[in-house]
Amino acid sequence: MGAFALLLWLNVSTLAPFRNFGYEFFVFQHVLTFFGFIIAIMLHLPSTALETRTYIWIPIGLYLFDRLVRTALIGWNNSRKMSTTIVPIDGEVTKICVSGSRVRKWGPGSFVLLSIPHYGIGQSHPATIASTPESHGGDLVFLLKARTGFTKKLLSSANASDFTLVTSSGDKNAHAKGESHRAFIDGPYGGTQGDFAAFDTVLLVAGSTGITYVLSILLDLAARAGKQKLPLRRLELVWAVKRSLQSNWFPEEIESAFSSLQAAGIEANLRVFVTGNEAFRDSADSSGLSGDDGINLPEYTQEPRQEPQKSAKIPCATVVTGRPAMKVIVPDLALQAQGELGVAVCGPLGLSTAVRNTVAVSMGKRPIYLHVEGFGW
Ligand SMILES: Cc1cc2nc3c(=O)[nH]c(=O)nc-3n(C[C@H](O)[C@H](O)[C@H](O)COP(=O)(O)OP(=O)(O)OC[C@H]3O[C@@H](n4cnc5c(N)ncnc54)[C@H](O)[C@@H]3O)c2cc1C
Repeated sequence: MGAFALLLWLNVSTLAPFRNFGYEFFVFQHVLTFFGFIIAIMLHLPSTALETRTYIWIPIGLYLFDRLVRTALIGWNNSRKMSTTIVPIDGEVTKICVSGSRVRKWGPGSFVLLSIPHYGIGQSHPATIASTPESHGGDLVFLLKARTGFTKKLLSSANASDFTLVTSSGDKNAHAKGESHRAFIDGPYGGTQGDFAAFDTVLLVAGSTGITYVLSILLDLAARAGKQKLPLRRLELVWAVKRSLQSNWFPEEIESAFSSLQAAGIEANLRVFVTGNEAFRDSADSSGLSGDDGINLPEYTQEPRQEPQKSAKIPCATVVTGRPAMKVIVPDLALQAQGELGVAVCGPLGLSTAVRNTVAVSMGKRPIYLHVEGFGW
């Protein structure tokens, strides 16, 4: 009965409301309950069948082996002194740049578990790598939206500090503020499954900090297009942000990626949708990208309300006020594509759901590959 109760709690406590109540507490009690469950099972085995303990020792052995390998990898990854620079940027977001890491290889869309003990001892937080191994001089670049714990402390510290950030271009005066701390990296993990270079047309959709996932795909495609002929003919990037200033998070990176794609004969368009209107707000959130981004909408069907304008900071971008009408964008691209359409989306639940539903409806016109990335588990 005791073992069954522990097993039940082990499963029930993994449900989102429990996890979101306090993530660190969730992890601590989960590991503790797991060991309690194993001990309870051991105690319940009849003395006549002690050899069945083998089946308990095997998973314990596998678990310990996994921890050992991971600890060794973390030790190796962090055996060199890295420096981390944090800079506050518009939209309650911190830009983090980790230099000198041993992590040299990762695929587009990968994430790491980032730990900066100065802001939370024993904590590690998933963060998507916005850079690629070839961009930013090999540095790992992240954007973390401030929530209530680690990410909030990080932003407060970045706001309060007064150091100089050395940018990827070496311009020491590019940002006035920044602070340097020791970071530990566990990973990289995950990444895109399909190769987006293999599609005729690619649609990348980002909501707010979801650009980190999409940017790494864009940078990877641009770098490869400069070296070899890709099957890719057309790339569309749709980015929904709350305020137009937020589209300036990666101006040089986006501009140079678009130039490389266009130089390689690939048609590339960027549309920034500025959704920061109180009327667009919606409180539902289960994606890790919260409603206070102002873009967490249940439906993305409404047509933009103004004429598109050119962006001052990113010449290749067209800025539109309103939300992206995914029900128009996806079928249009599917119709115009001369081969398969690849779609990647990373953003709030409303945006991902709209893309999912529209892709499902448009599948009849054209084969579509869809990857949906969320900032939560
Ligand atoms: C694969 C993945 C990639 C991500 N990439 C990014 C990114 O590029 N940019 C970005 O802004 N956010 C990203 N996130 C979300 C980010 O990790 C969380 O917002 C952050 O960990 C919250 O930390 P906090 O202490 O401020 O959280 P809190 O305010 O305490 O909690 C906010 C939410 O984050 C969850 N959370 C808290 N700690 C962790 C943790 N250690 N691991 C997982 N979830 C946690 C909580 O359950 C809660 O739902 C990603 C999440 C995942 C799963």
